[in-house]
Order: sequence, then C-alpha cells, then structure tokens
Amino acid sequence: MGAHPRGRDGSGEPAISSDAPISRGDPSYVTAPCPVCAAPDATMRTILLEVPYFGEVFESVFMCAACGFRHADTLLPRIGEPTEFSIRLTQERDMVIRAVKSSSATVAVPDLGLLWEPGPASIAEVTNVEGLLLRFEEAIGRARVLYPEPEARARADELSGRLKALIDGRASATLVIKDPYGNSALIGGPPRVARRVIPADEAAELLTGEYILDASDVGQPVRLRPVRDPADP
Ligand SMILES: [Zn+2]
Repeated sequence: MGAHPRGRDGSGEPAISSDAPISRGDPSYVTAPCPVCAAPDATMRTILLEVPYFGEVFESVFMCAACGFRHADTLLPRIGEPTEFSIRLTQERDMVIRAVKSSSATVAVPDLGLLWEPGPASIAEVTNVEGLLLRFEEAIGRARVLYPEPEARARADELSGRLKALIDGRASATLVIKDPYGNSALIGGPPRVARRVIPADEAAELLTGEYILDASDVGQPVRLRPVRDPADP
C-alpha cells in the first residue's frame, strides 16, 4: 500500500475522489520461488481493492524473506490499453485526487522538467497526486546527497521550492501519467482529468518497467537492460 499523505482538504465538502480505496475480501497468499535467489518459499500477496468512482484495482506484492526482494504492482482490469492521464494542477485540493501507479508507469511534470520512468525498483502504489509529487521530492533529496556541488545543490533547492509551491496550491503545473499496459490512472474524470489512448508508435517509446537480466558477458557484472517496446518483447 502507498502512503495517503492527505485525505480531505479540510473545507468540509468532500474533495474529488479523495475517498480511500476499500478492500474487498481478504488478501490471498501464494507461495512461489523467488526469481532473484531461488528460495522456494517467497510469498505473493494479492488483494482486490474497490476505488470509489473508478472500479476494481488488483494490488499485488511479492516478498522474499530470504533475500529481501520485494516487488509491488497494480493491475486495472478496466483499461488494459496504452493510456495517458493528465491534469492541470492549480489548487491545493487537486492533491487528494487519487492515483494508481503501476510498475510500468511513466510519471512526469513537464513544466518542472521532472520525469520518473519505470525501473527495476519501480514502486507501484495506490496513492494520490500529492503522494506522486512527494516521490519527486524524495528523488531531489537523494540527488542533493549524490551531487553536493554548489550548482547542483542550487538547482535541487530551486526545484524543491517549485514542487512545494505546487503541493501547497501556490503554483500550477501539469501532471502526466502514461502506461503502455493501461495499469495506471488518475481518478477524477473530466473536465479536470483528461484521458487519452496512446497511439501504438508513441506507446512503443515508453519504458515498461520490465528488465532483462543480461549475463551474456561471462565474468562481467550482471546488467539490467530496460525493455522499451511492449509490442515486441
Ligand atoms: Zn529471494
């Protein structure tokens, strides 16, 4: 489960799609071999969530106690085709708009030059707009540690300030989620949230979050290679 940093906006009226997802039934557990360390008794936990105004979301978490490998994902049975959701964020209450981010999602705030592409440690979560923006803030924080040069630091501080203004409703910017498998969504509906089917040629440019373990060079460290074309695995 993702964090839900903000529930309602405090104005007394229900915010758009701010209602928390409701779990339907108990989680189910399946034992499976770990793809990383081959321990035979890793666990896959699956739960079906009902998200208000949207429908069913399957959330799964694969966990290996032996090596610590963890992989979470979401599955939206209702969409299933390459889909883009976008919203122009203009006010604080936009932060509570619910978001489903699968491991194959590309999340971007083009106005701030922020891009989050799927990777081997891609986090899937049922969260809200603020939750997604806070992930960018975390990434900026990591960059500040990795690149301590004054110029990089100034850039990080500036970006962090603009992100905070957006979260506080003092600035506006567009948030975009693209998913080649249609397993991600912003749940608000028109006219605030725009939805578009991504044409095949554009979808082919998106990273999918699946990585091939490339161990062809014996003696070399194993490399992770991103899969770019969902139509041609
Ligand atoms: Zn393992």
